[in-house]
Amino acid sequence: MITTGTAKSWMENFKELILENKDELTTLDQAIGDGDHGINMARGVQEMDKMLQEKTFETPGALLKAAAMVFISKIGGASGPLYGSALMKIAAEAGDKAELTDQDLLACLDAGKKAVQQRGRAETGEKTMYDVWDPVVSTFRGEETIDWEALKTTAQQAVKSTVDMHAKKGRAAYLGARSVGHTDPGAFSSRLFFEALADAAQ
Ligand code: ADP
Ligand code: MG
Ligand code: MG
Repeated sequence: MITTGTAKSWMENFKELILENKDELTTLDQAIGDGDHGINMARGVQEMDKMLQEKTFETPGALLKAAAMVFISKIGGASGPLYGSALMKIAAEAGDKAELTDQDLLACLDAGKKAVQQRGRAETGEKTMYDVWDPVVSTFRGEETIDWEALKTTAQQAVKSTVDMHAKKGRAAYLGARSVGHTDPGAFSSRLFFEALADAAQ
């Protein structure tokens, strides 16, 4: 069950995990991108946290919509609009419900996944964050309750699966076959996004 408090913990956990892993995200993006993913994400989550401390929200949807706006306005680069669109669609699907069941939440995450796909024009296996969003959402879609440990494991495995992929989207695509052998940075931060949710919800 996701309440407004759970949604807040989700975003706060995400902030903590991004800040703890900022250097790792930067290192990953240095290998196949322009080295700013840790900086971009850290800026976004810090601005989001400031906003969350200043405002109060009646519903999970209202809180997540406000978080989406921060990601869209404060993060440059590819990842800001992608996370922002995903959170915006998650919020829209949550509507004005005061509480979300696991099934409601899965419908929200599915809407978020579709936003990443549409905004990024991403397909499976192109070595992007979509390669985490897609398996996580597809594995649990339709279940009545979410097994949070299994969800975390699915996200971890999905990140590993990006190592062998040949990047077809984003900056890493410029490297072509030389992107093989590296973890996608946005896939790694997306794992943190789902881990933050699992830690808040379970
Ligand atoms: P930039 O590449 O503009 O510097 P970031 O470094 O913050 O932005 O984010 C890079 C991440 O964004 C990639 O690792 C990838 O996961 C994700 N990404 C980039 N382009 C796309 C896309 N077209 N579709 C889905 N995800 C993408
Ligand atoms: Mg980058
Ligand atoms: Mg950049």
